[in-house]
Amino acid sequence: MRTILSKKKIRDDFVRKIEEISGQKLLACYQCGKCSAGCPAVAEMDILPNQVIRYAQLGFKEELLEAKSVWICASCYTCNVRCPKGIKIAEVMEAVRQVLLRKRKDHVEVPKLSAEDKASVPAIALISSFRKFTS
Ligand code: SF4
Ligand code: SF4
Repeated sequence: MRTILSKKKIRDDFVRKIEEISGQKLLACYQCGKCSAGCPAVAEMDILPNQVIRYAQLGFKEELLEAKSVWICASCYTCNVRCPKGIKIAEVMEAVRQVLLRKRKDHVEVPKLSAEDKASVPAIALISSFRKFTS
């Protein structure tokens, strides 16, 4: 993934919006990686949870909004518990989803799932999707 760092990106409204929605101070993260090391969904992610935080810190908006990881996240809160800086990574994931949902770019359209899909998807995955639509 090609990313270019600039002062404009770091000062972009997007960074402030993610901090405001999540209630987290992104710059507190020092990239220790403990969140990613404990994440049960990391094998399916395209960028690691600590990278989500890093991208949010640096204002890599397009890259974050395109990332599958925020949708793969199961909101299990393991990362929140493991973070030595007390950062709630799951809330940052939710903030990125909120920005996308406010743009009406839904990733999982539950009503469009077939009966077969609904029967085969674990209940917790569906519940997690509902929570993403309503929180
Ligand atoms: S565990 Fe916390 S401090 Fe460490 S990389 Fe993750 S968010 Fe940053
Ligand atoms: S809340 Fe999401 S990012 Fe954090 S450990 Fe669970 S699945 Fe991974």
